[in-house]
Amino acid sequence: MRKSGSSAVREIKARIGIVELVRRWVDLRRAGNRWVGPCPFHQESKPSFSVNEEEGFFYCFGCQAAGDIFDFHSRITGSDFRESLAQLAEEAGVVLEASSAPATERGDLRKNALRMHDFAKEYFRRNLFSEAGADCRAYLEQRGTTPDISEKFELGWSLPGWSGLADALRRAGFNLKQGAESGLLKTGERGSVYDVFRARLIFPVRNTAGRVIAFGGRIIGDEDAAKYINSPDSPLYKKGENLFGLYQARRAIAAKKTAVLTEGYMDTLTLHQFGYDNACAVLGTALTVEQTRRLGNFCSDIELLFDGDAAGRKAALRACTVVLGRGLNCRVVCLPDGEDIDSLLHAQGTQAFEELRRFAPEGLDFCIRSLSAAAPREALDWVKSFLQDVEQPELVSRFASRLCRGLDLDERELRRSLPARSKKPSSAGASAAGRESGGVDKDALDRRIMSFVVRCPQHIPALRDAGAMLLLTQDWALSVWEKTASCAPAYDPDEVLSKLDDKEREFWWRQRVLEEPLRDNQERELADICRKAAAYCAEKQDRACRQAMLGQKDKNAYDPELLKALNESLLRKRTLGSADGQH
Ligand SMILES: [Zn+2]
Repeated sequence: MRKSGSSAVREIKARIGIVELVRRWVDLRRAGNRWVGPCPFHQESKPSFSVNEEEGFFYCFGCQAAGDIFDFHSRITGSDFRESLAQLAEEAGVVLEASSAPATERGDLRKNALRMHDFAKEYFRRNLFSEAGADCRAYLEQRGTTPDISEKFELGWSLPGWSGLADALRRAGFNLKQGAESGLLKTGERGSVYDVFRARLIFPVRNTAGRVIAFGGRIIGDEDAAKYINSPDSPLYKKGENLFGLYQARRAIAAKKTAVLTEGYMDTLTLHQFGYDNACAVLGTALTVEQTRRLGNFCSDIELLFDGDAAGRKAALRACTVVLGRGLNCRVVCLPDGEDIDSLLHAQGTQAFEELRRFAPEGLDFCIRSLSAAAPREALDWVKSFLQDVEQPELVSRFASRLCRGLDLDERELRRSLPARSKKPSSAGASAAGRESGGVDKDALDRRIMSFVVRCPQHIPALRDAGAMLLLTQDWALSVWEKTASCAPAYDPDEVLSKLDDKEREFWWRQRVLEEPLRDNQERELADICRKAAAYCAEKQDRACRQAMLGQKDKNAYDPELLKALNESLLRKRTLGSADGQH
């Protein structure tokens, strides 16, 4: 996956420092020779996310996320490696060779779909300011949306006809079949294509990398049509995975350490207009786990805005379970019946909203309050299914105690009735490579040797001469050794990394990022490993000689060569033993 374009990769890394990149999302501070901060990939109270600037890697103690600038970028933006490569290349001013991004049909479709979405966004935007956009502009004015906000969210207007965008795409040389596959057009029964969005106020949806990947549209005029529609699923966009406005709000969310989550496009716009620039919205679905994870990359607190009616409260209860279940905090702001945040802010300003926020219950309290009114059986079922859904087992007892107290349930009874949680494998790759089988001690020696190899690759030739690889007993260690040693002596981290698999890379990074550099005790460690290797070889030779002698028929006619070899190995063992000073 990263075989091609290794020189481009190196060049980009040289131009975009990992600290510079990570700082766009994470509040890093210096700690010795590393940078540390709160991990953007899991929820935590202590900063366990660490960046090694010199080596260009990051590593998280908590969730074992690790990698270089490309890994960080693709993880935080949800792009794949090639997209991150392309985007960072553009930023760094590095031109990628055609061969560094081998064309695949799917890759081409994605690329073209992105270009078409950019094109469509500009096209819709032009429409809004054309004569044909008068009605839509009037609507925005009537809603009180300022030009600033219209600009910030790049609002647009799709013409009422059937083929405004299709014609424009065709004229610009795009493939209309791909236009349909990317969700901008639809194919009619007789193969004709037509626009998905007609006579609608257009809200472009950007992913966290800033690319337009979908649109939302609000009907203007025709009262019979669906009020809002969204792009269908496409190679760029999957329902329930993205949030409208997250891209525009991401900095404010990270700075304020909290996000305001609404259900609507216009709500998001209005919140931003009134200074709540950390607002974003779900896109035509109830809040999903995936969306919550994405938000959780930026903050640990979410303020949920919901209508105060029964439907709104029910939706809020569901959203709370998703947020709390992921280990995030939330509060529920219920709007007065018949009011939405848009009308509230426009009619009463921020003060009324601040009042609501001040009294907003914390998520679990909200759940308890809502469930107190429900039938006991319903409440109990909810509690059980909620606890089953909590991602981190450590949080279950905390939630269980509070829920039982709040709902007057017997905690012991409840615990007994809960099915045992199936032990999930500890967080992805937590055991790194290794610890899979074999004795702990043997694994420890493998780890020690491989840690040294990864941290001090300049000693690989010496280790090889000493036969250090013979000491390795674990498959993962042998594999890392082979791949690392094959790159020696001209040691190039990028070359090594291109050979390692995911687990091995994780081990590699862990050593490079976490461990203190071996400055003074390098030689001692090298000598120690070499001594162990020599002892092992001597032992082997010794055993081989004895075996060979036992195999001889005539006990009185020992092979003098064998005797000599045995003596030598005994002598060496003794020397090694005394030099070791430990045995
Ligand atoms: Zn982490």
